[in-house]
Amino acid sequence: MTDPSALLSSVFGFKSFRPGQEEIVRAVAEGKNTLAIMPTGGGKSLCFQLPALMRDGLTVVISPLIALMRDQVRGLKEAGVSAGALTSGNTTEETDAVWDALEQGTLKLLYIAPERLASSGTERMLKRAGVSLIAVDEAHCVSQWGHDFRPDYLRIGALRRTLDVPLAAFTATADAETREEIAQRLFDGVPPETFLRGFDRPNLTLAFEVKNQPRQQILSFAAARKGQSGIVYCGTRAKTETLAQALRADGHNACHYHGGMEAEDRRVVETRFSREDGLVVVATIAFGMGVDKPDIRWVAHADLPKSIEGYYQEIGRAGRDGAPADTMTLFGPDDIRFRRQQIDEGLAPGDRKTADHGRLNALLGLAEALGCRRQVLLGYFGETADPCGNCDLCETPPETFDATQPVRKALSAILRTGEYFGAGHLIDILVGNATEKVRERGHDQLPTFGIGTEFDKRGWQAVFRQMAAHDLVRPDPDRFGALRMTHAARPILKDEASITLRKDTMAKVPRRPAVKQLVSEDDAPLLSALKAKRRALAEDARVPAYVIFNDRTLIEMAETRPGTLDAMARISGVGATKLERHGAAFLAVITGDRPQPVHPARRKLAGRSSGEIYDRLLAVQADLSRGPNGLEKPMTCSSSQLAKLAEVQPGDMGGLTRLLGDRRAERFGDAFLEVLREGV
Ligand code: ADP
Ligand code: MG
Ligand code: ZN
Repeated sequence: MTDPSALLSSVFGFKSFRPGQEEIVRAVAEGKNTLAIMPTGGGKSLCFQLPALMRDGLTVVISPLIALMRDQVRGLKEAGVSAGALTSGNTTEETDAVWDALEQGTLKLLYIAPERLASSGTERMLKRAGVSLIAVDEAHCVSQWGHDFRPDYLRIGALRRTLDVPLAAFTATADAETREEIAQRLFDGVPPETFLRGFDRPNLTLAFEVKNQPRQQILSFAAARKGQSGIVYCGTRAKTETLAQALRADGHNACHYHGGMEAEDRRVVETRFSREDGLVVVATIAFGMGVDKPDIRWVAHADLPKSIEGYYQEIGRAGRDGAPADTMTLFGPDDIRFRRQQIDEGLAPGDRKTADHGRLNALLGLAEALGCRRQVLLGYFGETADPCGNCDLCETPPETFDATQPVRKALSAILRTGEYFGAGHLIDILVGNATEKVRERGHDQLPTFGIGTEFDKRGWQAVFRQMAAHDLVRPDPDRFGALRMTHAARPILKDEASITLRKDTMAKVPRRPAVKQLVSEDDAPLLSALKAKRRALAEDARVPAYVIFNDRTLIEMAETRPGTLDAMARISGVGATKLERHGAAFLAVITGDRPQPVHPARRKLAGRSSGEIYDRLLAVQADLSRGPNGLEKPMTCSSSQLAKLAEVQPGDMGGLTRLLGDRRAERFGDAFLEVLREGV
């Protein structure tokens, strides 16, 4: 079996595995049934693509979306791998080419849409094609609970039985219920070897902001990142349209996306997003699984997501390429109320509702966190971590205060008014604002009337919001959202527990965010030039820009400025095929001139030790081309002979003669052997 690290670097151009990848690759390559759960952007595709190259025969990949398949096939072909897809989106030529490659047995990866499994023709074809591995991407699509359920995924279990080959399943959805369902439906209940890996995405910046002028907050977040691809998630369809318009008015290239749009219109947005550099899509969560673009530089939530899992999945779409990416989530009291109501009014059974409230609570705990957000987030997934230094709270530690007394005052206002009112009325009572409604009900006679003078209205709003976030109060669905106290609040009311809240979110803080740059000011012009070159090449080849090189690779080029093809080959993301195809073009951008023409035989060795040996052989040959005394008839070896020598590195005259022939071995042999013995 081929060494995975060698293929990782020669085919994909990556210098090392990401956390977790190596073990998964080994298990899959060894033909074990596996289930790998890795975060979005963790690098799951590689965990079946690499084993496919290590194993004999064909790997069938089942993936839920045509767009995903097409992008992966393009990426693989760009890296020099024989891959194809059979989907309804194919042209006839594409389909013919796939069949030819299948016929000739040269295809390594075949992507098929799950609905193809319904036809008996597919099964027959796969039986003949020498399939040795089935890979199932987005395996949570077999789960009837999730909103990504795909009935055709239920056919995969039968396919595995028929073909009788190992199956590797991949998903980012970690909860135990889904995992159990995957084992049932894909592996007939026999638990596969399971890998559950690192939820941290260190390159993502985490931030939350309390809504205050929500539209303006989104616009300034986007303005600081103008020209970079981003997603704004909204809670409603209508908002996606208005916010997209506002972004366009602010000079962004922006469009909206939601589930109510025609399939064709949605497809146009998906394609534009994957192709264009710097498009902003304002969307509902319907814009999800199909978004495999690795160079999304930011994700903003204009409204609070519905659970911590949802939040994690949505922000996870940013920065898959590993380069820095920013996320920011807005929330406010209305969001909390809306999400609670949504759960209460939903059709799920009671225990599921309780679980959903718990997931919302976890997200609210993150929103109102008092310390490093990453610690809180990873803690939810059962991981421990040090303060990250890459979240808003690490950057500016929050100001907190002991809020036990104010919270008790608020709770008593709630209880004394029979748990029949919302925050606005309760705040009027606390601050002693004798409105008509207050007077009408005699609430100005309550002992709680006017006892809350320590805060103004805005301050109390922040207290109520944080109380809701800590699940001390909940809106009562039967009383039009009036606040009721929960069990969790009892100890505080009885003065048996204390509570700390944030002070800094109580006042309005004007903020002008600094413009975010991906590289230093010095490197920025070069990065733009590299991106322009990438765009031109991508347009010529009609592929998304990142298929040529992703952002991270271009950033590394701009920062390290390789001056030769060898140095270029050491950049992460530059594999042999890409170096051959695009290396010279990008090198020319960096060095600002046309590079010396390099013989293709030498180019193949770029970035490897044999490349340097080749150069030394060439130098020795130049010295000896007219013999040791400089008087004989000129003689040289061909470039491919030298490349062969550098690669095979024969240790004696016999081996050398077999490669060069007698005459050349006689002239250059001793000197060449010396070079080879010295090595690098
Ligand atoms: P997932 O499916 O887990 O969300 P992908 O397979 O789409 O993630 O990979 C995300 C990005 O990470 C891709 O751009 C991929 O090229 C890159 N990537 C994967 N493995 C590595 C690695 N070992 N080193 C560098 N980049 C990697
Ligand atoms: Mg994926
Ligand atoms: Zn942090």
